[in-house]
Amino acid sequence: MCFCKTLEDKVRKTISKYEMLSQTDNVMVGVSGGKDSITLLHVLSKIEKGFPGVRLVAGTVDEGIRDYRDEALKIAKGNCKKLGVEHVVVSFKDLFGYSLDEIVGLIRKSGKTALTPCSYCGVLRRKALNSMARDAGVSKLVVGHNLDDETQTMFLNIVHGDPLRLARAKPVLDVVHPLLVPRVKPFCLVPEKEVIMYAYLKGIEFQCIDCPYAEAALRNDIRSMLNRMELKHAGTLYTICSSIEKLRPAIAASMGDVKLNNCKLCGEPTAGDLCRPCQMLEEIRVL
Ligand code: SF4
Ligand code: ZN
Repeated sequence: MCFCKTLEDKVRKTISKYEMLSQTDNVMVGVSGGKDSITLLHVLSKIEKGFPGVRLVAGTVDEGIRDYRDEALKIAKGNCKKLGVEHVVVSFKDLFGYSLDEIVGLIRKSGKTALTPCSYCGVLRRKALNSMARDAGVSKLVVGHNLDDETQTMFLNIVHGDPLRLARAKPVLDVVHPLLVPRVKPFCLVPEKEVIMYAYLKGIEFQCIDCPYAEAALRNDIRSMLNRMELKHAGTLYTICSSIEKLRPAIAASMGDVKLNNCKLCGEPTAGDLCRPCQMLEEIRVL
């Protein structure tokens, strides 16, 4: 079997192993314009052909990062057009009243917060993706996290002193509230280098430049460490992921149930009174 068919087969097996998608699901792929999400869209649109009842939609969050996101959006649109996939776009500006560039301008001018652009971006993007998927009426939100991303996130949770998050970050996230669209990660067992190889072999266009706000963060150090280990001991990433998978039930059992309320400002699910995005937006308003 050729490399591309092998990868498609691996994704099919991952979907079936974790029961990620069913034949009656309507699916939104979160497409940023980067290699993982665009390649996943191509693979899923191929797989979807065998399931004519499934509706596939692509969704992009426009954070408002001048030049960088503009290029990514163009690439995402072009790929969707080529594949004949419906494409939905929501922007931070429309949803929250500020673009990320404006938020960064405000926090840098005030000098009052230690939070980074990525902290705001990550929290607001998660909320934007979920509401976009909900508004599109889909039953699953598919994201392009690959095996390398998943392993790095596991280490980040440990290094950040939040090991309980290991239990939550599963290939299929638990349905904990009716307003949260279930998220699945069909690339969770596919190494990054295989995603890149597939994209090159298929001639898929994706964005190659880095976000201007990308931090030289802890994730980069963890990525370098894991890459060195993988190079010396092939299969390390996969072994780490499967070890964590075995530990998850015990970690989850030690956590107890988290009861979710509705945010007093926006109504979205939250463990406290105000959801994290609303807290951030309130803080920005008084900077
Ligand atoms: Fe957002 Fe940071 Fe990613 Fe840029 S690098 S898109 S700011 S999370
Ligand atoms: Zn809220």
